[in-house]
Amino acid sequence: MQNILLPILSVLLGYAFVLILKPTQNKNLKLLLAFSGAFLLSITVFNFLPEVYAQSNEYVGLFIMIGILMQIILEFFSKGAEHGHVHLDKSETNFPWLLFISLSIHSVLEGIPIHNHSSLLIGIIIHKLPVAIILATFFFASQLPKAKIVFFLVLFALMTPFGVLLSENFTFIQNYYYEISAIVIGIFLHISTTILFESNEDHKFNITKLITIIAAIAIAYFV
Ligand SMILES: [Zn+2]
Ligand SMILES: [Zn+2]
Repeated sequence: MQNILLPILSVLLGYAFVLILKPTQNKNLKLLLAFSGAFLLSITVFNFLPEVYAQSNEYVGLFIMIGILMQIILEFFSKGAEHGHVHLDKSETNFPWLLFISLSIHSVLEGIPIHNHSSLLIGIIIHKLPVAIILATFFFASQLPKAKIVFFLVLFALMTPFGVLLSENFTFIQNYYYEISAIVIGIFLHISTTILFESNEDHKFNITKLITIIAAIAIAYFV
């Protein structure tokens, strides 16, 4: 049950944060993003990757690379919303279907391995929080009709839980569980390293960011 509720809660928390506090400070959001990227990468490398490698067949590596490629392709359409920025035109009034579909594919997939890897849930919750904040900030400032915004944000909150339900109820998904998990590993490797790379765009030494990243790695190691 918590596998379904907690991802929804983390997204709702992100929306509430934007609605109530109307954050204007970009710096703190960047730190939260850096934390989430380092944390998700650590959970993947410390737990998720070794578990899938140990239980699976020789094709794991291949599926991990497919996951990386898949996320690269998804980001042609989402413009990087999964790892922390939205590039749509704020005056756009048409529904951003490409963003919506690519983000949904990403979110459903990442829900599938949750119930077999306990620390993965925490990694996904922490990864979703800044993404929800970024999406909500963009949509509340956009010219899109309110009903469409609510539709988009609610569906986004439900996609990962939908992946959890799929993996629990469909034997097709269970039969390909390790292949899908390896694809999700690839997706996480891509988004988390991209977050870390982009959070350090100017390559200037930033002690706060460095401490944030080290803290995320340390916490992920001990959960
Ligand atoms: Zn990017
Ligand atoms: Zn994600």
